[in-house]
Amino acid sequence: MPSNGVNDLAKRYADLQVQLARLEHAYYVLDNPIVPDSEYDRLYRELLEIEGLHPEWITPESLSQRVGGAALKSFSSVTHAVPMLSLNNAFEESELIAFDRRCREALHADQVDYAGELKFDGLAISLRYENGILLRAATRGDGASGEDVTTNIKTIRAIPLRLTGKDIPAVLEVRGEVFMYLEDFERMNAKAAQLGEKEFANPRNAAAGSLRQLDSKITAKRPLSFFAYGFGALEPQSWLPATHEELLNAYVRLGLPVCAERRVLKSVPEILAFYNEVGAKRASLPYDIDGVVYKVNSFAEQARLGFVSRAPRFALAHKFPAQEALTTVLGIDVQV
Ligand code: NAD
Repeated sequence: MPSNGVNDLAKRYADLQVQLARLEHAYYVLDNPIVPDSEYDRLYRELLEIEGLHPEWITPESLSQRVGGAALKSFSSVTHAVPMLSLNNAFEESELIAFDRRCREALHADQVDYAGELKFDGLAISLRYENGILLRAATRGDGASGEDVTTNIKTIRAIPLRLTGKDIPAVLEVRGEVFMYLEDFERMNAKAAQLGEKEFANPRNAAAGSLRQLDSKITAKRPLSFFAYGFGALEPQSWLPATHEELLNAYVRLGLPVCAERRVLKSVPEILAFYNEVGAKRASLPYDIDGVVYKVNSFAEQARLGFVSRAPRFALAHKFPAQEALTTVLGIDVQV
């Protein structure tokens, strides 16, 4: 017979699934979060802790097993040839040290190189180029399929409609983040306030809401931008450079926007120095970030590390402490 303690925990686990599903729907589908990210993160971590104690409770439907979000019915759906996954998160230094140890042990290596970059707070997008021409753009959705937002994406000036340079692969799915510069966001919200229109809670919601407009004329008026940081489908595979760092350099040659705040990191102290450095300039960056991301730099090593259910084993998002307080975002408390 299970004890009361276990019963209570099972009930808490079930409640968390319901509560988190409600928060995810508001955030990913409606672009209208009802609690700050730090609150969502706290509940999500509690879910993971309970699953750590009781792995037998995990079902394929558990929120920990899938990438959040679902396609809006109003857009046609695009199946991703290569799934668009999430990232595992770390909040503490000890989690980062454990990540590096796991990578080194799995690769039987004394030292692993990581590509350090910013974790942009926007929404993930996949851009499909065939022979250098932008043919289709899709949101992440549930990771397996997303929304076809091609017409809207084509209104974003930072995204090239045609790639440049000599070495263009036959098929290239560029993955990256659509976001809004803070200055643009504030200007847009001020204008909305003047006109008595709805203001957005933050640049991330403004970017997501703007991209998922059914009328692309509205999207065209919204100041969206883009940074590339990954790839999906690729033909021929031989086009792929050996490392993530070289891929981003190749993207620059293709005319894609890549953030300059990136560096190859060769040890835990170098990783921490990068984290602290970025943390110190976070408030003065012209866009929102919520952490930094470390990716094993070598693609051969990435392939050897592979994936867990919803995230790659070769990457880690190292989050910064929340900038927002529960009461300052939307003033709504969560009851679970
Ligand atoms: P995530 O945001 O933690 O990590 C994955 C995403 O990071 C990718 O999909 C991509 O869009 C983004 N990203 C930014 N920079 C990147 C880079 N350099 N390389 C690779 N990816 C990069 O995971 P998630 O599954 O999208 O969602 C979790 C996040 O959403 C958490 O921060 C959580 O707080 C927030 N959230 C909040 C609520 C809420 O109610 N407030 C609800 C759901 C989710």
